[in-house]
Amino acid sequence: QSHLRPLPLFAVQNFCSLLISVFKISNMRVLVTGGAGFIGSHLVDKLMENEKNEVIVADNYFTGSKDNLRKWIGHPRFELIRHDITEPLLVEVDQIYHLACPASPIFYKHNPVKTIKTNVIGTLNMLGLAKRVGARILLTSTSEVYGDPLQHPQTEEYWGNVNPIGVRSCYDEGKRVAETLMFDYHRQHGIEIRIARIFNTYGPRMNIDDGRVVSNFIAQALRGEPLTVQAPGTQTRSFCYVSDMVDGLIRLMEGENTGPINIGNPGEFTMMELAEIVKELVEPSVTIKNVENTPDDPRQRKPDITKAKQVLGWAPKVTLREGLPLMEEDFRKRLGVPKKA
Ligand code: NAD
Ligand code: UDP
Ligand code: UDP
Repeated sequence: QSHLRPLPLFAVQNFCSLLISVFKISNMRVLVTGGAGFIGSHLVDKLMENEKNEVIVADNYFTGSKDNLRKWIGHPRFELIRHDITEPLLVEVDQIYHLACPASPIFYKHNPVKTIKTNVIGTLNMLGLAKRVGARILLTSTSEVYGDPLQHPQTEEYWGNVNPIGVRSCYDEGKRVAETLMFDYHRQHGIEIRIARIFNTYGPRMNIDDGRVVSNFIAQALRGEPLTVQAPGTQTRSFCYVSDMVDGLIRLMEGENTGPINIGNPGEFTMMELAEIVKELVEPSVTIKNVENTPDDPRQRKPDITKAKQVLGWAPKVTLREGLPLMEEDFRKRLGVPKKA
């Protein structure tokens, strides 16, 4: 009969703390640097859908905003740290999505020295962190590592055509060094790395005035201003909707391949074609005007996504004509321009 006696209190407490620690072990602690930005905040939304994830965002709010994460502030599985990644960061995590870096030419050219510090010292710090805690780290590199490409479309094997001393170099050479650091930490210290080469991405929450082409054209159309096509207008880009991008990044992190892997939508458009589509979909009465371009603008860009298809089983689902109206809706709300009846 003695085995029916009630358990002593300490035994119950021990059992409960064991349960809690088992629960904690099965949780995944994920750091997202740059998580208050455009792609980062959509990634956080997706990661938070998984109840096993505890998400920590580190961001200095240079181009990002707390507004993008408002719905998670106060959530028990979410933490937001104001932190500049050019300074060391001490947290205990299992995975690091390393996105922190301004992505729009206007912002990354604004303080180029800071941009290259963010890419080089910031990535070094995140690799040092990954090494200390044994975390897997994913870098969001860019199609800009291909520079003004002489191979079209761009495969991951292409080494690029980049000006090392131009006004874009803080960004594209910065990302190239970041990729080098990733592979050196991988080879020398056995760090688990993942590298995504992201091609132009668009969607809700882009900074309205950050100067990138899709956000410019939609904001201009909604404000009734001419769409500014930079010369010559025949240069091409391939635009990926943000939900497809986030899906690709998570597949890459969870998969076995280090990359680099191109993640982008291969649909290719000239800037004049893009202006015509935005005009047609958003505001047919606006005009299109030609303006001057900036130096070193790549003339063509289109990802070869064979590797992403094979290795990640990933391909984009949202076409430009499907994605633009979703972004338009968000811009209408933020600019206070109601849809015409
Ligand atoms: P974004 O500017 O919206 O987000 C970048 C975030 O990083 C912002 O929240 C910003 O405040 C933060 N940040 C910048 N410097 C920081 C620092 N020193 N310390 C801490 N936080 C810092 O840009 P995005 O479009 O979301 O881009 C995210 C990542 O994807 C970037 O690494 C970018 O290079 C890469 N990428 C984006 C695109 C694109 O088309 N959007 C294309 C290629 C690559
Ligand atoms: N670092 C960090 N967080 C950590 C561990 C390291 O920010 O948890 C930084 C550290 O300050 C250093 C960088 O990462 O500047 C590289 O660290 P590593 O250990 O590789 O090199 P070392 O400290 O020996 O230079
Ligand atoms: N562009 C344009 N009008 C604008 C802004 C950009 O025609 O108002 C062009 C720019 O010259 C480039 C392309 O759009 O050829 C993409 O520029 P963005 O700054 O969006 O991204 P990038 O791919 O250059 O990083």
